[in-house]
Amino acid sequence: MSEQGQRVAVVTGGARGIGAGVARRLGADGMAVAVIDLKEGDCAATVEAIRADGGRAFAAGADVSDSAQVGAAVEAIAAELGPPAVLVNNAGVIRDNLLFKMTDDDWDTVMGVHLRGAFLMSKACQKHMVEQKWGRIINLSSSSALGNRGQANYSAAKAGLQGFTKTLAIELGQFGITANAIAPGFIVTDMTAQTAARVGVEFEAFQQAAAARIPVRRVGQPADIAHVASFLASEGAGFVSGQVIYVAGGPLC
Ligand code: NAP
Repeated sequence: MSEQGQRVAVVTGGARGIGAGVARRLGADGMAVAVIDLKEGDCAATVEAIRADGGRAFAAGADVSDSAQVGAAVEAIAAELGPPAVLVNNAGVIRDNLLFKMTDDDWDTVMGVHLRGAFLMSKACQKHMVEQKWGRIINLSSSSALGNRGQANYSAAKAGLQGFTKTLAIELGQFGITANAIAPGFIVTDMTAQTAARVGVEFEAFQQAAAARIPVRRVGQPADIAHVASFLASEGAGFVSGQVIYVAGGPLC
């Protein structure tokens, strides 16, 4: 906990999309929020929005797949806001392609950001959580963990994050730390806009087609994911650990 008696949350990939929504929600919940993204300057809008709502926020530039950058960012956050107690491993990229066209670099980049990134960030933050005897680790998986055409790299990484989450729950539970995963379905962000562009469909039409297949008949918004992250990060969620919560407007099979 910080000197101000606030929990400190770290959200990776918080410059935009789901990460920005989660960061703003945790700030509104009363946490001090550190926003990490590749470029520190890109975090400005999220940090300013949290501050405008009366919260404390800090921006750090780091590539989550780089061990030295992660270490430096987490120590800067601890010095500026206080020791991290909540970590949301949200930073993500897609490099979609059918298997026969997927390059080694497409594979390594996706594994590096999602899996290595979550590993490095969790390792750097858990020592602060263990010292506090309290922590919440929330990993962004995906409905693609169940398999998705053109996403052999991404679905493998997102399924891997589910195993990683369960293992962290087992290892860290004795220190008051929970670990859970959120697996979103279709959420309106630059990432889904990028997918629409790749398949050559106008984004609005792409969203309408997706909504028609979703039981609640709409696509998701970053706030839908932020709501679940807020619950998992809360004091009262201490007996929920090792779970994967699909947030997709209906069941997936
Ligand atoms: P997004 O809009 O593309 O945002 C991703 C953010 O991560 C960007 O700000 C990006 O920075 C940052 N990032 C990328 N690589 C990074 C790295 N190495 N180090 C630090 N930051 C990095 O994506 P989103 O849709 O919000 O997705 C957020 C998470 O939810 C991802 O893990 C994604 O896989 C997952 N998810 C999304 C959906 C969906 O429908 N949108 C569904 C399921 C799961 P730059 O802007 O500099 O690239």
